[in-house]
Amino acid sequence: MTHQTVPTSSRVLSIIGAALLAAMVAAEAAPGSDPLSTLRDAIERHERDGDYRSMILAAVELRDTARAPEDRIHAQRSLGRGYALLGDQDRAVEALSEAMGQVRPGMSPTLLAELYRDTAGMLGELGRYEQALSLVERGLGALREENEPDLEAALLVMRGSILGALGRLDEAMASIEQAMDRPLSTPRQEIMRRNNLGMIHKWRGELEPALSAFEAVYRQALEAGSEQLIVYGLLELGDVERLLGNRSDARMHLEDALGRAEAAGEERWQLFAHNYLAELEAEQGNAEAEARHRDAVAAIRSALQGQAVENRARVLEVSLEVLEREREIEQLRMERALQEVQLERGRTLILLAAIAGVLLLFALWLAVQQSRVRASANRELDQLANTDTLTGLRNRRYFIDHLRRRMTDETVRGALILIDVDRFKRVNDDHGHEVGDVVLRDVAQRIQAMMRSEDTVARWGGEEFLAFLPKCTADAALQVAERIREAIDSTPVIHDDATLSVTATLGVAEIGDDGDFERALRDADHALYRGKQSGRNCVRIATPDRSAMS
Ligand code: GH3
Ligand code: MG
Ligand code: MG
Repeated sequence: MTHQTVPTSSRVLSIIGAALLAAMVAAEAAPGSDPLSTLRDAIERHERDGDYRSMILAAVELRDTARAPEDRIHAQRSLGRGYALLGDQDRAVEALSEAMGQVRPGMSPTLLAELYRDTAGMLGELGRYEQALSLVERGLGALREENEPDLEAALLVMRGSILGALGRLDEAMASIEQAMDRPLSTPRQEIMRRNNLGMIHKWRGELEPALSAFEAVYRQALEAGSEQLIVYGLLELGDVERLLGNRSDARMHLEDALGRAEAAGEERWQLFAHNYLAELEAEQGNAEAEARHRDAVAAIRSALQGQAVENRARVLEVSLEVLEREREIEQLRMERALQEVQLERGRTLILLAAIAGVLLLFALWLAVQQSRVRASANRELDQLANTDTLTGLRNRRYFIDHLRRRMTDETVRGALILIDVDRFKRVNDDHGHEVGDVVLRDVAQRIQAMMRSEDTVARWGGEEFLAFLPKCTADAALQVAERIREAIDSTPVIHDDATLSVTATLGVAEIGDDGDFERALRDADHALYRGKQSGRNCVRIATPDRSAMS
């Protein structure tokens, strides 16, 4: 292994050349059609057009849209390249290392090789050759089973330039020679490869092969019409001629390169040209000319530094845009999440409302059912409470609770008929209590049959009944009472084998204008008493003078 000092400008040129070659390989990827490949195409287009700001924004969009880690890696890689091209090496390294952090086993070897190649190129430009080298080795390792000659050649060339920069020139040469065996698809790639070969020869001190390599580079660059490659070719041709001692040829080539660089306005090319020319003038002892070139180098360096500041400002601007874009995306994401939460909450509310509605309806139904049951129970209770169980007529309580109130409140006028079964005790005594009950029921039916619909009759006591005939005069009531008496007397009560003659005595009284029920009842009772006294089975009416009527 030969260890030699390699001049810095030469190293940088070599690495940049290798990175350029790599970029060319990358830019020749086939275009796709889905949204993600549209973004990928946009990134490549912006890169070709030198619109690195748009390139970075597209890469950010790809990174935030992509789900597959492969796509994210692609995005981060492009982001890194974009920042590198804008001159922000720090951010470039950051993006690339983020991409490296996403590497998982089983990923596409080509993808990994591309990532390692980009990162290695970046690290090489930063002078971190050892790290760059190990990444290139990994890239080559990934491609071992793949058929990617262009990518593999680009990595081999890059390895060569890194090894060259490290001074490991034999290995560098071996790597470049290996690359020369691979078929390359475009003349530009061929030129870059040959350029690197020339570099290694030059560094190894093999000046003749170096010269012929750079001659080929220059010739092919002219054919390809690439100003950049022509300038590179001329610079190296000049430098090698200088090393060979052909100073006039060296001067011619270097001045040609400087002229082209100035015409193209490419300061970096000018810098290299002034550097090489300074060396030439130094060799020739032209201190003044050397100083002029060194001054030019210093001026361009400071201009480039100014440019670097400008680039940093541009990067900052882009970074702000990136931040803004990320903020927008985050906001969109939050809004979407919020909408989902609200939607979910709405759904839950609707569900709860529905459940509440169903429960409410059920509760209402239950309440209605209960109130119905209660009402009917109340009705039944009322019925029970107001009805005499034996005869089915109203009972005394009904009279007191309802009728009496009605008579006083509504000043209903009418007549009362008090009915008492004659010698009923005997029925019980002679035929038994049960038969007595049968008689009572029978009598009750006969009385009820004589009533109008508006009349009310109740069982007043044991064998006593009381009828109220609203809006009825005493005379009219008298006739009704007489018909009741007849109805009881006319037909005997037949029960089983027994035939029972039953009679009743009745007292009639009118409820006066004062609506005094109690007094009317007392009057009716008096009249009844008189009926009993005058032999029973008769009707008596209470008269104003309380005299009996037969
Ligand atoms: P009067 O002609 O004077 O009215 O004589 P009475 O026997 O009908 O009168 P009294 O008041 O002496 O007797 C009434 C009887 O009625 C007494 C009682 O045992 C009987 N009694 C009362 N309630 C019932 C009942 O629900 N069923 C039966 N079988 N008898 C009853
Ligand atoms: Mg009695
Ligand atoms: Mg009696």
